[in-house]
Amino acid sequence: MPADTRFTTGVITDKHCWHENLFSLSVRSSIKPFVAGQFTSLAANINDTHTARAYSIASAPGETDLEFYFNRVIDGPLSNHLAELEVGDSIEVAKSAAGFFTLEEVIGGNDLWMMATGTGLGPYISILRSADVWQRFSKIIVVHAVRREADLGYREELVKLADEHKSFQYIPVVTREKIKTTLSQRFPKIISNGTLAAETGCDLNPESSRIMLCGSMDMIKDTTVALKESGITKHLRSKHGQIISEKYW
Ligand SMILES: Cc1cc2nc3c(=O)[nH]c(=O)nc-3n(C[C@H](O)[C@H](O)[C@H](O)COP(=O)(O)OP(=O)(O)OC[C@H]3O[C@@H](n4cnc5c(N)ncnc54)[C@H](O)[C@@H]3O)c2cc1C
Repeated sequence: MPADTRFTTGVITDKHCWHENLFSLSVRSSIKPFVAGQFTSLAANINDTHTARAYSIASAPGETDLEFYFNRVIDGPLSNHLAELEVGDSIEVAKSAAGFFTLEEVIGGNDLWMMATGTGLGPYISILRSADVWQRFSKIIVVHAVRREADLGYREELVKLADEHKSFQYIPVVTREKIKTTLSQRFPKIISNGTLAAETGCDLNPESSRIMLCGSMDMIKDTTVALKESGITKHLRSKHGQIISEKYW
């Protein structure tokens, strides 16, 4: 039993290594119901310190196990601990999920753009595995930007979704290798120079576009600036806009 009563014990039921520093874990634990797009905390005692960090849930609500998508951060205590876990090991899981990076916060719009860098893809996997998104939007576009092609986790699942749903497009972006089948420039560039609109055949505009951004603070800041050129602004409770975001670091 975790000493901190906000946590419960979870057991690793599956581990998928996309490569040695990029992996997904399935965790069996009983936490309160959550909404697709939310995060919970994982924790462990590392060198006698209770170390907890936030992680987006990649599985859909109602699935038997929680799934998470991680990268190993250099010298990061918890991500390195998680990377060493194997099936059967345990990890503390916060009983309550939290956060507002959910479709409930996306007001109106026909086209949903889900833009992520790295493991920022996780909440979109949860949303795409849930029914709601497919009923609400006439176009759903995932743009996943990574450094190297090997970092394109969940690629097969996303390609399959694109084959199955006419309304869905998956746009991989690889910035540090030359790959013929992917875009190669960062979000602000492919938005400002029209590459993204040309590639998808879909305009970015405040009337029909709704944007979710997930990843580093720099990416969110720079992409928000680029979207502003098209009149697309941050959604605030006090002033409705088109962008909601989740900052990982
Ligand atoms: C709401 C929320 C949801 C999150 N969801 C996820 C998730 O689903 N998957 C995930 O891998 N991480 C996620 N993170 C980041 C996560 O909480 C940890 O910060 C990360 O795993 C590193 O933990 P650490 O203890 O190893 O290092 P820390 O001591 O937490 O971080 C060390 C440094 O690493 C950098 N850093 C943090 N996270 C990352 C990252 N993902 N990629 C590159 N550099 C990073 C930062 O500069 C930070 O200062 C999320 C963060 C937040 C706030």
